[in-house]
Amino acid sequence: MLFRSGPPGAGKGTQAQQLAQGQGLLHLSTGDLLRAEVAAGTALGQEAAAVMARGELVSDGLVLAIVRSRLEQQAADRQQGDSGTSGWLLDGFPRNRAQAEALEALLAELGQPIELVVLMELDDDLLMQRLLGRGRADDNAEVIRHRLTVYRDQTAPLIAYYRERGLLASVDAQGSIEAIAARIQTLLG
Ligand code: ADP
Repeated sequence: MLFRSGPPGAGKGTQAQQLAQGQGLLHLSTGDLLRAEVAAGTALGQEAAAVMARGELVSDGLVLAIVRSRLEQQAADRQQGDSGTSGWLLDGFPRNRAQAEALEALLAELGQPIELVVLMELDDDLLMQRLLGRGRADDNAEVIRHRLTVYRDQTAPLIAYYRERGLLASVDAQGSIEAIAARIQTLLG
């Protein structure tokens, strides 16, 4: 099992998807799941859309409900002998201390500890370039700057949180997709 984090634009999504596929893990991206809710026009999606467009964090309760239901579903499937995915890879979650603590409680309930937290490091200029090149609805310069501020204020403190727990590993997120994937593979040993 594995869990990862990093600033917006560090290439989390790309790496997470490939890695999860390669290792047969459930890839759980809160950003992707929220965008799917927005696209489907659900009540949850309507609540999240404006918040995401501003580059703010969607409420902890909402995000936690999504993560909880997916992890519980996977645990139930496995109990019934469904050998689909074993383990999970969380992408873009947790993003603040409250989410990290709630995750800890949920995983204790499920008896599934975090094995590793991967931090992908990239300098701000490169982050900005990548995000602007991507062209997603919330990828304009002003919103990106705000997302980076939110990251610094709320998410970056989790680096110390997981370092203290001996779970953190950092990866240089500069270079080609293949080069970064190779660095992550080395960490996984
Ligand atoms: P990026 O890593 O580029 O910021 P994501 O797809 O991870 O992209 O997130 C896009 C948006 O979705 C965030 O700016 C935020 O509004 C919302 N979001 C995603 N994950 C979370 C989370 N764990 N908690 C709160 N909001 C989230």
